[in-house]
Amino acid sequence: MLHIYDSIIIGGGPAGLSAGLYAARSKMDTLLIERAKYGGQITTTDELENYPGSIENCTGTSLSERMKNQALDFGVKFAKDEILDVDIEGIIKVLKSKKNVYRARTIIIATGANPRLSGFKNEKELRGRGISYCATCDADFFTDLDVAVVGGGDSAITEAIYLTKFAESVTVIHRRDALRATKSLQDRAFHNPKIKFIWNSIVEGALGDEILEGLLIKNKITGETRNLKVDGCFVFVGYEPISQLFQGKVTMDEKGYIVTDEDMRTNISGVFAAGDIRKKSLRQVITAAADGAVAATTAENYIEENKN
Ligand code: NAP
Repeated sequence: MLHIYDSIIIGGGPAGLSAGLYAARSKMDTLLIERAKYGGQITTTDELENYPGSIENCTGTSLSERMKNQALDFGVKFAKDEILDVDIEGIIKVLKSKKNVYRARTIIIATGANPRLSGFKNEKELRGRGISYCATCDADFFTDLDVAVVGGGDSAITEAIYLTKFAESVTVIHRRDALRATKSLQDRAFHNPKIKFIWNSIVEGALGDEILEGLLIKNKITGETRNLKVDGCFVFVGYEPISQLFQGKVTMDEKGYIVTDEDMRTNISGVFAAGDIRKKSLRQVITAAADGAVAATTAENYIEENKN
């Protein structure tokens, strides 16, 4: 007999892991499928200072490990696999990977988002050769060197501050004359002697053949261009939802974020979404974790209501 789970959660970031914890605690037979690293995006963060109760030296990786172990203790089963196709219209949802077919009464989509590319010339070619999207992963390579950060949001400024622990200098290149990041981060960055700012400017291209040697920068107001010599460039210009698998199958907004009601229901019964994949106004670890808890609870109620 083919196994039918009560719930399958796709994605092992804070939304998926907290959905797992809540589902398993309410005795749902729960499988969590993750294709890469548990923790998702937070594993690229070195310092988590805005998750309530996070302890001193709490990193994205340490928090996600604790979340995973907690879910495991309550009986969540974990599978490392990549779902490639879904059939979610029926009462029993079917998820297919290369080698496996999974079935469940409910699914919770918690696939999150990926860093967005800035779109300048040579960005893709020099990715991993001086251009990076993860300071926690790559900062060490730039010890005592000069780096640039592209973007002006919370990610760019958090990571610029982190990079000052390694780099000789960090130049933030922002397309406007004011940062989007929260005021407390702005204060820390403005008071950090290693951080410089280039305002109203965009990167037009990365210089170098085999390895990054600098950036071609254009001032949007004057139209002036100049070369900035840097050894590394960290791009933090927002994120894109990982929702392609569900394109045309659940309702999404124009950017590809999944639309839910406040109880995390999508337009398809038995299908829920949680975390950064959702259309919402605040994408943080705490809102992802909260979404996961709500999604699992709504999924449990759905199963109760649909028992025959
Ligand atoms: P974000 O808030 O969307 O900011 C993206 C930044 O990149 C903006 O400054 C934007 O400029 C700039 N930008 C966008 N496209 C660009 C392009 N093609 N070229 C150059 N610049 C470009 O993204 P985020 O900073 O990654 O944050 C995403 C979410 O995670 C937010 O909700 C944020 O609060 C949250 N987050 C929170 C923390 C924290 O609380 N510590 C840390 C990281 C992320 P404009 O300002 O001109 O639009």
